[in-house]
Amino acid sequence: TTLDLNTRVRQILADLGAGDPFAGDAAAGDTPGTLAARSPIDGSELGRLAALTPDDVAAAVTRAQAAFEQWRVVPAPVRGRLVRELGELLRDHKDLLGELVSIEAGKIRSEGLGEVQEMIDICEFAVGLSRQLHGLTIASERPGHRMMEQWHPLGVVGVISAFNFPVAVWSWNAALALVAGDAVVWKPSEKTLLTALACQALVAEAARRVGAPADIAQVVIGDATVGEALVEDPRVPLVSATGSTRMGRLVAPRVAARLGRCLLELGGNNAAVVAPSADLDLAVRGIVFAAVGTAGQRCTSLRRVIVHEDIHDDLVARLAKAYSTLSIGSPLDSTTLVGPLVDATAADAFLAAVDQAQADGGHLVTGGHRAEDAGASGGQYVVPAIVDMPAQTDIVKQETFAPLLYVLTYRDLDEAIRLHNEVAQGLSSAIFTLDVREAETFTSAIGSDCGIANVNIGTSGAEIGGAFGGEKETGGGRESGSDAWKAYMRRATNTINYSTELPLAQGVEFG
Ligand code: NAD
Repeated sequence: TTLDLNTRVRQILADLGAGDPFAGDAAAGDTPGTLAARSPIDGSELGRLAALTPDDVAAAVTRAQAAFEQWRVVPAPVRGRLVRELGELLRDHKDLLGELVSIEAGKIRSEGLGEVQEMIDICEFAVGLSRQLHGLTIASERPGHRMMEQWHPLGVVGVISAFNFPVAVWSWNAALALVAGDAVVWKPSEKTLLTALACQALVAEAARRVGAPADIAQVVIGDATVGEALVEDPRVPLVSATGSTRMGRLVAPRVAARLGRCLLELGGNNAAVVAPSADLDLAVRGIVFAAVGTAGQRCTSLRRVIVHEDIHDDLVARLAKAYSTLSIGSPLDSTTLVGPLVDATAADAFLAAVDQAQADGGHLVTGGHRAEDAGASGGQYVVPAIVDMPAQTDIVKQETFAPLLYVLTYRDLDEAIRLHNEVAQGLSSAIFTLDVREAETFTSAIGSDCGIANVNIGTSGAEIGGAFGGEKETGGGRESGSDAWKAYMRRATNTINYSTELPLAQGVEFG
C-alpha cells in the first residue's frame, strides 16, 4: 500500500545515509519549486523534493570546478580509491538500493539488484582502469625526438540521465569520470529523484572516507531547465546525456553551439533476425527476455523480430505461448516478471501504438491492453503485445517505450538486413542462427548498422566490459567498457626534442 511504500522509502533513504530529503509532506500538493517523487507501483506520490534553479546549477558547477582543480593533481591510481570505496558501499547496500530502484522505477527485484550489480561492476572496471590511463609513444620522423600522447583530466562532466536506468547510467559515467580526474554534476530524471539522492549519499560517504573533495560529485535535482543550465554552461566541457532522441536533438545543438563535447545515449529500435537454422528454444527465451524485461522500458529492449518465412508460424506460436505465462504485477512480488510502465503517458503511448499497428494492417497476436487485475490500482500495468506486421510501417520505425513487439517476415538474409537497418535508430541488434556465414555477415560491415550486434543472444542486457552505445539517432556515444574512458579525458600530443638541433617536420627549411 501507499503508506507502506512511504514508510519503506524513508527507511531506505535513512539507511543509505540520505537522511530525510523531503520538503514538506505529500499532502501539501503541488507546491511551486518542488518536484514529486512517485512510485509506478501504484502511481502514488512518495513526497516532494525541493527543485533547484538554473542559478543553483551555476553554483554547483563553480564548486565542481574548484574540486576538479584539486582532484586533477591527485594521481590516477589514488583517485581509483574513491571509486573502489564507492564500489564497496554499493556492495554493502546492494539490497537496499536495488529495492529503491524497484520502488521508484518499477523494475522487478532481480532487475533492480542487477542494476546495482552493474554499478559494482563498473566501479571494479574503473579501479583497474585507474592504473591504465595510458597513451601511446609514437615514432618521430626527426632525429633526437620523441612523440607521445598523454591523457589528462577534462574538467566538469555534466551527466543527464533517463528514468529507466536511474542509477547504473550515472555510475557508468561517474566511475570513469572520477578516475579520469573529472568532477561530475548529475541531473537525474525527474521521475527518479530518490535513487539519485541515495547514490549521492553513497558517493559523498566514499569521498569522505578517502579524503576526496566533497564537491567532486554532485547531484542537481530539477526539471529540464536544470538540465538546460548544465548544457549551456561553458565550464562543462562534456555533457553526457542519456534519454530520448527528442532530448538529444535539443541538447546536442546547444552544446555544439559553444563547441563543447556531447556523449549521447539516445533511443533504440532494436531488432532480432531469426534465421531458419536458429535454435528456436534459445531464440524464444532470448526474445521474451529482451522484449518484456523491464516491461519493455530498456533502451536495448527488443522491439522488432525479423523472422524467416519458413519458421514464422512456428516462432509466433511459441512466442504467444511464452507470453501467455508471463506474470504481470507489482515488481516487489517475487513471482512477477512484468512490472508497471513508468506513468500514464507511457501506457497511453503503448495503447495508441497497438491501435496504429492494427490500423496499418497488423494482426494482434497477443496482449496489447491494460492488465486490469494486475498490480496495485493507480499503477500502469499492461499486457505485453505481439503484433504481426505485413510491412515495416511508420509506427514500427518509432521507439514505443513499452512491451510491444512487432514481427516482420523475410525471405533472404539481404532482405532481413535491409529491414533491420531501415530504421533511424542504431543501438542494439541480434541474429539467431547456427549458420556461421549468416552470423558473420550480420556482424560484418554489410550487416547490422548498430553499435551492438549479438549472435544467439537477445538485444538487451549488455555487460559493462564492452563499449555501450549506438549509431544514427541513438547519438553515436560510447560509455562503459573498452576505451570509452577516453571521452572523459583530453588528449595531449607531446613532441620532445632531446637533440641539439631543431629540425622542422616535413623537411621544411626556415632561414
Ligand atoms: P527523456 O528524454 O524524457 O529524459 C531524459 C533526461 O533528459 C531527463 O533527465 C530529462 O530531465 C532530461 N531533459 C529533457 N529535456 C531536456 C533539455 N531540453 N535539456 C536538458 N535535459 C533535458 O527520457 P526518459 O523518458 O527518461 O528515458 C527514456 C528514453 O531514454 C528512451 O528513448 C530510451 O531509449 C532512452 N535511453 C537510452 C539509453 C542509451 O544508453 N542509449 C539508456 C537509457 C535510456
